[in-house]
Amino acid sequence: KKAVAILTPYIELEKSAGSSSSAGTILLATVKGDVHDIGKNIVGVVLSCNNFNVIDLGVMVPMQKIIDTAKSEQVDLIGLSGLITPSLEEMSDVSRELQRSGLTQPLLIGGATTSRTHTALKIEPHYQSPTVWVKDASRAVGVTQKLVSPDAAGPFAQSIRDDYKEVRERYQSRPRRRPLRSIDEARKRRVEITWNSSDIAAPVKPGIHEFNNFSLSELAEYIDWGPFFMTWELAGRYPGILDDAIVGEQARSLFDDAKVMLKKIVEEQWLTAHGVVGIFPANAVGDDLQIYTDDSRSTVQNTLHCLRQQVEKDSGKPNFCLADFVAPAESGLTDHVGAFAVTAGHGCAERALAFEQDHDDYNAILLKALADRLAEAFAECLHAKVRRSLWGYAPEETADNEALIDEKYRGIRPAPGYPACPEHSEKQSIFDLLDVPTRTGMGLTESFAMTPPASVSGLYFAHPKSQYFVLGKIDRDQVADYAKRKNISLQQAERWLAPNLGYER
Ligand code: SAH
Repeated sequence: KKAVAILTPYIELEKSAGSSSSAGTILLATVKGDVHDIGKNIVGVVLSCNNFNVIDLGVMVPMQKIIDTAKSEQVDLIGLSGLITPSLEEMSDVSRELQRSGLTQPLLIGGATTSRTHTALKIEPHYQSPTVWVKDASRAVGVTQKLVSPDAAGPFAQSIRDDYKEVRERYQSRPRRRPLRSIDEARKRRVEITWNSSDIAAPVKPGIHEFNNFSLSELAEYIDWGPFFMTWELAGRYPGILDDAIVGEQARSLFDDAKVMLKKIVEEQWLTAHGVVGIFPANAVGDDLQIYTDDSRSTVQNTLHCLRQQVEKDSGKPNFCLADFVAPAESGLTDHVGAFAVTAGHGCAERALAFEQDHDDYNAILLKALADRLAEAFAECLHAKVRRSLWGYAPEETADNEALIDEKYRGIRPAPGYPACPEHSEKQSIFDLLDVPTRTGMGLTESFAMTPPASVSGLYFAHPKSQYFVLGKIDRDQVADYAKRKNISLQQAERWLAPNLGYER
């Protein structure tokens, strides 16, 4: 990009002399409610380097802005990006609106939770022009070049259309998935826990604890480098990836750059880390967790709503629900639940923008990727503090880093949006309980994405039997019950639970 900036005046001169140099103009946007843009930015760089003119509208872009810009700038292509599952619904809505507005530009779909199946089922049918799922940044160039090529566009669009039609047909005629149990039946098959007080730990320091301006150098010690390479679409496990025959050289050079920047982030305080944790009196009531205002347990401060697996499993295998890991109210045991929210993202956007304005997208992306790593490290670090001293049920736990990264310790920290609790709106309860915005400067978008982007929030469960699981598909009966418990409409619940619905809406 820096080189291109130097060449631009000459390119412009040539253009005015009659020859056009651009392969085409593409509008890129992370959809409304979503704040993640590392993948989109990588795509933007890759396309720029391949002669495309990129109009990047940034994150949280409302559909009207996408439509207006596509029209006013007469773009050749539109690319939508999103990371969290609510963005899948938003993209589906955008495709309808593009159609309604009479736009005809090919539509590209990308981002972590998008898929060929989702695009074929929920997006492509709504938009008459070519609609293509782009698996990763490396495929973006091939797809866009074909779509703008006078010769290749037609046949390519037809092949995609045929392919997605087949995906839909295969989906509709697929052999019935594993049947679902009724929610009543699934509840009977809850995980068997014999409740006794010896498995329940009273917190050493209950209540809310704030960690403002947390030491970045301490956080750096907790970084899990594995996902860092995935961000850059370098395949392989860390540290083996550094010696990989194919990507090893790139991985090493990237890792070297990352370590140099990390040192600057720490020494020059490029980022500010704020976090808050709380440990509250709580009991399970059905599939809900009731959080009490105090130890008298007479007033419910907040209710967390959990979801239960409904797939039929072999006998003996339970239908998991996070609420099962907390002592039920009727046990008479005084159990607790923890919550946390951490960010390492304050200061990130401003500095990344400075890099971008200097045409240095590489360092802008590197910084964002490192901020993400520090946020995850913060979650790991505070979880250790909670286990060892605040809740204090594992004071003797050793500080072996590998055991930490493999999460080999007692207790879990499930995060809304992840497989055991895929419904993002539960973050609102965490934010309320901990007064997160005031204490950390973090916020939630209308799709419950956290701001700044380098943020993590979740719950703590301490029971020795607590474990992660994948919710999987759920049935109408539970969705209706969930809507009632949360006091939301069925339509709202179905929208929020869309990827987990085991039935047609
Ligand atoms: N070391 C990793 C940590 C993130 S992934 C990193 O630096 O990126 C692991 C975290 O994801 C867990 O601590 C938990 O918060 C969340 N998680 C993983 N599997 C989950 C599941 N099945 N349900 C809910 N949360 C899950």
